[in-house]
Amino acid sequence: MTSAEISKNLFASTTTLVDYSELKKVDDTTEAVLEKFLDDLKNDVDISRLPHEQAHAEIFEALKQRVDKISNETCDPGEENSFFVCDLGEIERLYKNWKVELPRVQPFYAVKCNPDMKIINKLASLGANFDCASKLEIDKVLTSGVHPDRIIYANPCKAASFIRYAANNNVLKSTFDNVEELHKIKKFHPNSELFLRIATDDSTAQCRLSTKYGCEMERVDSLLACIKELGLNLVGVSFHVGSGASDFSSLYKATRDARIVFDKAANDYGLPPLKTLDVGGGFQLESFKEASAVLRLALEEYFPISSNVDIIAEPGRYLVASAFTLAANVIAKRKLNEVESMIYVNDGVYGNMNCILFDHQEPTPRTLWHNENFHYDDFGSTSSQPIDSCPYKVSMWGPTCDGLDCITKEHYMKHDLVVGDWLYFPNLGAYTSSAATPFNGFDQTADIIYINSNEI
Ligand SMILES: *Cc1c(COP(=O)(O)O)cnc(C)c1O
Repeated sequence: MTSAEISKNLFASTTTLVDYSELKKVDDTTEAVLEKFLDDLKNDVDISRLPHEQAHAEIFEALKQRVDKISNETCDPGEENSFFVCDLGEIERLYKNWKVELPRVQPFYAVKCNPDMKIINKLASLGANFDCASKLEIDKVLTSGVHPDRIIYANPCKAASFIRYAANNNVLKSTFDNVEELHKIKKFHPNSELFLRIATDDSTAQCRLSTKYGCEMERVDSLLACIKELGLNLVGVSFHVGSGASDFSSLYKATRDARIVFDKAANDYGLPPLKTLDVGGGFQLESFKEASAVLRLALEEYFPISSNVDIIAEPGRYLVASAFTLAANVIAKRKLNEVESMIYVNDGVYGNMNCILFDHQEPTPRTLWHNENFHYDDFGSTSSQPIDSCPYKVSMWGPTCDGLDCITKEHYMKHDLVVGDWLYFPNLGAYTSSAATPFNGFDQTADIIYINSNEI
C-alpha cells in the first residue's frame, strides 16, 4: 500500500468527526499504521544520516589551535576556560537539508534554542524566518535587519507591555491559547495575525510543552467564539509536539487536529478561511528523515498543495545542535582506585551543560588532549557502557560546589585522564549557552570560535 492509501483507508471516516472523544479512540490505530509506514520507509529508502562528518578536520584544527596556546603551568586565570567551536557551514547544510525534505515548509528558527548573533545572521541570510518569545529575542532579530514580517511572536502567554512592544515594532504574527490573551491582544494589538495553538500528545518527548501551552481540542470552540466576538484576525493554527519528540504519530495527529480547527472556523463560525498552518518544532537531526516523512504524509492528507495553505515551522534544536562542539579542561581529579576516579572539569550543569538538567541531554565526553597528544579522531575514547577498550570508570563533575553539578555519574574512558587534559563534547548547540549562569562565580559565557566548513 502506498502511504496515501494507508491514510485514506484509516482516516476516510475521521475527517467528518466532531466528537473529540471519538477522535481519541482512533489514535491507537493511527499509531499502528504509522509504525508500519515508518517500517516500510526503513526498507524502502536509504535513511542515511546527513553527512556532517566532512567538517571534522576543520573542527579539530580550530580546537587544536586554541588548546596549543594554553599551558596549564603558566596561563592566566580563566585562560583555560571551556570554549565552543561553532560550524556555520553545518548550519547551512542543515538548512538546505530541511528544504530538501520539507520544501513546502518555511522554517522560523526558534531563537531561544541558541540566540547567538552569528547564527541569527547566518540563518537570516539563508532565508529562514524567526520564532521569538520575548522582547529581547525580537530586538536581536530586528537588529540583524530582518523585516518584522519574518517574525512570529510564538509565546501564547505574553506580558501586556511586550504585546504593545510587538505592536510598535510591527510584529504582527503571534500565537495564543486562551481567552484572556485574546482580550489583551484586542486592547493592545488588534491588528495581530493570530495562530491558535492547540495542545498535542507529547508524552514521549524529551521536553514536554503541552502541559504548559496549547488549547485542548475540547476547548477550541470557546476560543473561536471569542475571536468572532472580538473581531480579531485569526490566520492559522499552530502546535508543538514537544522538544526532542520521538513519537511521530503525534505530528500526524496534531496536523489532523489542526485541519479540524480550520474547518470549524470556517463552517461553524463563518470566519474567513485560515491561511497558514504552523507545525512548530521538535525536530532533531537523528530522526529528521522519519519525522519529515510523517509530516509530508500528514500534509498530503489534510493540507494538500491544492488547499493553498502556507506551511511554516519553528525548528530550534534541529538547526543548531550538531553545529557546536564544546571543549573543557580537566581541572581536578580524585582517584578512587587503579581504574576508578572522579573527574572535575571547568564547565557543567550551571554552565554550558545546563541541558543536562533543563533539557535531559546526555553529553558525550571524548578525549581531545591527553598525554601530550591529541585524540580528536578517536571516537572510541569513550563509552557509556563498560567495554574492554575503555577500562577507566569515571564520574564527571562541573566546577561549582553544588553536588547537583554532575555531568555523568558513570562513564568509561579509554584514557586515564589527568589534570590538564582536555575533553570535548560534540552536538552541544541546542539549549546550552542560552541558559548558562554565573552561579558560584564561574562566568560561563564561553568564547565561540566560528568556522565555516565547506559545503557537501
Ligand atoms: C522551544 C520552542 C520551539 C523549538 O523547539 P525545538 O524542539 O528546539 O525544535 C519552537 N516553538 C516553540 C513555541 C517553542 O517553545
